[in-house]
Amino acid sequence: MHGAPAYVLPTDRLETQFADKYPPYTLSQALAEANRCLYCFDAPCISACPTAIDIPTFIKRIANGSVRGAATTILDANLLGASCARVCPVEVLCEGACVYNTWGRVPIAIGRLQRYATEHGAASVNFTRNPPTGRTVGLVGCGPASLACAGRLALLGHGTVIYEAAEWPGGLNTTGIAPYKMPADDVLREVEYIRAFGVEIRTGIEIGRDVSAQELLEQHDAVFLGPGLGADSLAGVPGNNGPGVIGAVEWIRRMKTDPTLSLGSVRHAVVVGGGNTAIDAVRELSQLGVSDVKLVYRRGESQMRAYRHEWEAAKKEGGVLVPNAVIREVVRDHDGLKAVALVATEDGKPTTRALGTFPVDLVVVAIGQSRLRALVESFPDVACDERGHIVADAETGATGNPRVFAGGDARNGGKEVVDAVAEGQRAARSIDALLKQLDADGGADA
Ligand code: SF4
Repeated sequence: MHGAPAYVLPTDRLETQFADKYPPYTLSQALAEANRCLYCFDAPCISACPTAIDIPTFIKRIANGSVRGAATTILDANLLGASCARVCPVEVLCEGACVYNTWGRVPIAIGRLQRYATEHGAASVNFTRNPPTGRTVGLVGCGPASLACAGRLALLGHGTVIYEAAEWPGGLNTTGIAPYKMPADDVLREVEYIRAFGVEIRTGIEIGRDVSAQELLEQHDAVFLGPGLGADSLAGVPGNNGPGVIGAVEWIRRMKTDPTLSLGSVRHAVVVGGGNTAIDAVRELSQLGVSDVKLVYRRGESQMRAYRHEWEAAKKEGGVLVPNAVIREVVRDHDGLKAVALVATEDGKPTTRALGTFPVDLVVVAIGQSRLRALVESFPDVACDERGHIVADAETGATGNPRVFAGGDARNGGKEVVDAVAEGQRAARSIDALLKQLDADGGADA
């Protein structure tokens, strides 16, 4: 992942204040860790990886001194292996499945080894790129699902154009990953890596405003929908209109990309929610020096959807849980946000029992994101289910329209980056088969 990226973020962002959670391995550290691996037959770590990376093989290649070989093994299975190395919840995926756990021993640091291999070896991997087929695919959204799909299709010789509404490519990888796991600059380098396969990226292009679904279907032989999710939901937080109350995805996006965002005199912050985005916001605020960070969650600690290890880390960094509580009122005066009044909940529902009023300078709401139903359903014969998720086959990405495929958060409702990559890559196989079929049928054009 070397070379200057086409997309360069300003330097003076809050994100730049964070240190790496796990500093990169040196050569000797990587060799020592690689030599701990038992290269298990039927390795459980492979089964635990949504992209089925051949983990023992890439680790063996590191141990044998072939970092390019290691990177080739990783990227053959997962084109976004560099970011997955850093953002995957390895504790519950590959490392959680490592046989060392069964003996009460520390599992192999697969994520850190994968980072070592991709950082040192990806630039020298020789991908075979098929001759141009003359077919093109339009992809909606430039997150991990579309990038993985477009990268595979480009290597197969198909033309690919990604349409992204935001200013920056990369989707939530760029704007939503906790900066101590992976800063946006590194994500943009990975985007550049995929772009170098011949993928065209057009940012600032909104479907329905700048180009219609019909036009995409006319301009391309097939379309992949990977738009992710919509804006933060603030519903259910009384007094949410006004300065000082912001959705978590939006706050994290600004913290990572917007040099005008400052924490100023923020001392007291309340985060609302119990999922991983809420925990990320708690950890980020604590690490940025906010001394009082409360997590207000409508259920109990054991019911939080967030990964346990992330919440345990958040507590160590200063986050305090206010369980079984919701905001009854956001208190403001002429100077702005002052406090939140909390009431107790029962079974997640608010009661009238007051829990007190707490001073607050910032409220970050992480209770979910809207769905992009209108965008999705502007494509003929493509539908969303009652939850707003695109109706598409999990294995093939096929929708009700034979020329439209889908994957990533918009289809699965919001899972891990590696799940989006897996879905994007599977959809690429389906799209490639469709395009070959079109050729076999006599070159029928869109
Ligand atoms: Fe190596 Fe652990 Fe995977 Fe076995 S389960 S191959 S020891 S990483």
